[in-house]
Amino acid sequence: MMVKSAAKYIVLLGPPGAGKGTQAQIISKEMNLAHVSSGDIFRENLKQETELGKLAQTFMRRGELVPDDVTIAMIQERLTRPDCQAGALLDGFPRTPAQAEALSKMLAKWGAEVNLVPYIFVDANILIERLSGRWTCPVCGLVYHEKYNPPITPGICDNDGAVLYQRDDDKPETVKRRIDVYLTQTAPLIEYYRLKGLLVEIDGTLSIDQVAKNILAAIEEKVAN
Ligand code: ADP
Ligand code: AMP
Repeated sequence: MMVKSAAKYIVLLGPPGAGKGTQAQIISKEMNLAHVSSGDIFRENLKQETELGKLAQTFMRRGELVPDDVTIAMIQERLTRPDCQAGALLDGFPRTPAQAEALSKMLAKWGAEVNLVPYIFVDANILIERLSGRWTCPVCGLVYHEKYNPPITPGICDNDGAVLYQRDDDKPETVKRRIDVYLTQTAPLIEYYRLKGLLVEIDGTLSIDQVAKNILAAIEEKVAN
């Protein structure tokens, strides 16, 4: 059995478009902690045309969640890779109570636990504008916003020069469905983690830099080194 008791696991919670991916990219660099995004892993599988990718696509294109068993197995495998030896910053997982329970169980086996859950809250009307202006790099996964966080050259990734694309599931009908799915299936995790004393509320309407500062300050204050 693997013992990872010193490892840190931070779960970023919040609706689609709250800024989880944006913050995870900043914070994972700052803390030198692996960024594990379930959505990115599904999109990568889709690109590679794996069986997992094909299965995930049937749910993703409708804005539905991929079934728990498949998602949990995928994350468990990801968290055992060498770059997660010191823990991980989880973005987009867990998204259901069953996923949260499975995460606790797998971490407990490794002598670890979820250390903090920054919950990034943003009003639903803002989410739609955020997602409709989101542009993503197909190579490195960096996310931009045409108004709030534009690349230096329009349509081109600052990091690697790739041509940015708009996610298929960011079209308005799918966004509405994703927000509904979030409210019914994922929002219960807010109380779940609050009861465990792990939740810290983060105002996601502030600037990207300010949100990052607030999350880092919460980690500094509440997660032991
Ligand atoms: P999530 O991973 O939670 O779905 P993203 O990090 O992809 O959200 O952010 C959604 C969109 O909102 C992106 O276009 C991103 O550039 C933009 N964004 C993220 N944080 C902020 C912020 N604090 N202010 C304005 N726009 C933001
Ligand atoms: P995201 O990149 O986090 O916005 O996720 C994009 C899509 O991938 C979601 O709408 C779901 O279809 C799927 N997905 C990502 N994470 C999960 C998860 N933890 N459980 C189920 N489905 C997920």
